[in-house]
Amino acid sequence: MSVERAAFIAFHACPLAAPGQGKSGGMNVYVRELSRAMGESGILVDIFTREHEGGCGIEEIIPGVRVIHLPGGPHDASIGELYSHLPDFLHEIHAFRNEEGRTYNVVHSHYWLSAWVGQRLAQSFSIPHVVTFHTLALIKMQSRAGEAEPEERSTVEREAMLTAERIIAFSGHERDAMARLYGTDPAKVTLAPCGVDLTKFRPLDQREVRKRLGLDGEKVLLYVGRVEPLKGLDLLVETAAQMEAGEENVRMMVVGGGGPGEPETDRVRQLAKERQVDGLIDFVGRVDHDDLPLYYNAADVCVVPSYYESFGLVALESMACGTPVVASRVGGLPTIVHHGHTGYLKSWRCPEAFANSVEMIISSSGLQESMGAAARRRAELMGWSNVAAMISEEYLALISGENRAGN
Ligand code: UDP
Repeated sequence: MSVERAAFIAFHACPLAAPGQGKSGGMNVYVRELSRAMGESGILVDIFTREHEGGCGIEEIIPGVRVIHLPGGPHDASIGELYSHLPDFLHEIHAFRNEEGRTYNVVHSHYWLSAWVGQRLAQSFSIPHVVTFHTLALIKMQSRAGEAEPEERSTVEREAMLTAERIIAFSGHERDAMARLYGTDPAKVTLAPCGVDLTKFRPLDQREVRKRLGLDGEKVLLYVGRVEPLKGLDLLVETAAQMEAGEENVRMMVVGGGGPGEPETDRVRQLAKERQVDGLIDFVGRVDHDDLPLYYNAADVCVVPSYYESFGLVALESMACGTPVVASRVGGLPTIVHHGHTGYLKSWRCPEAFANSVEMIISSSGLQESMGAAARRRAELMGWSNVAAMISEEYLALISGENRAGN
């Protein structure tokens, strides 16, 4: 028996959308890279996603891995509004599939909105349903006051956990939180981390890439990611304010976000002004995923100050480039960053501790080099082909009716 064809549901996370701005980020990268790696291992994958600005029709990621855009609400609908368009999207998938006469062995849903769709599809096709939630309402709400979530979200998540045959969690922290907050049976949960493209994200000559980016001899601290409150850019500003190294010796590059006019970008810029570190921070804006290895390689240290992170692809990409990471000790980040070996993990409440760790790394080229080398070695265990192999093994166990215990 083999897994011939999988249906991925990525309702609002088109794998072809450019990550790093608005709502497009790690989930979009995950769906694209996981499906590509599955395709390379011989599994055909159809990814169903909603039509959006610049995304319609059928496109291929590689031969055998298709992105199928179907109508699913107005292009500019918010996450909260999207919920009411799920039945129409489900109907569109059924119509598409009936027209093509396709069959699938497994449905794999990404995020709660997709899980609502995937659950119903799997039921009507009588095939197993696998869910990766990426983030969960109750964990997000616990990690930072003021995060509002659509009312239905936690109910849909609870129901999907109950009915899915298997749940993929990125870390033990996420699995424990599912059990604690949603009452999920941990034996249903498989741990499989995110992955990284080890060919794209690799160590390069730092002098060379710095020249290309117009950098001089200053130390470079890097932030990469969407610009939104949960990402903790206020902590980044505070870290800059606490550092002893002067403005002439250090640059902090903020990569990602939509630039001026985006409320969170404006808030962070204002904070930087108030803390008198605006001269030290460059807001670069969104950078194409293919160009990011230049930034990771130019940096002396990558800072991930998130209040919560279910995984933290940025930390892994940085490590794959051989750049140490200073990150918050939250969510899945401790499964990537080995404290004291590939960087440091700090409490997000302590900007002084962040600043100390960053200064420790940038003031010792020996430490920076040894941590960078250890970071790359660790990342080498986490290529996408390994992740795809772990997950397709789960598919196979489900379709052949094995009852696997969670790991
Ligand atoms: N990213 C990008 N360009 C940018 C900023 C971010 O391509 O300007 C990518 C980054 O490389 C990573 C993803 O967006 O792959 C962010 O993933 P992460 O898991 O760190 O955060 P999330 O978006 O899931 O919260």
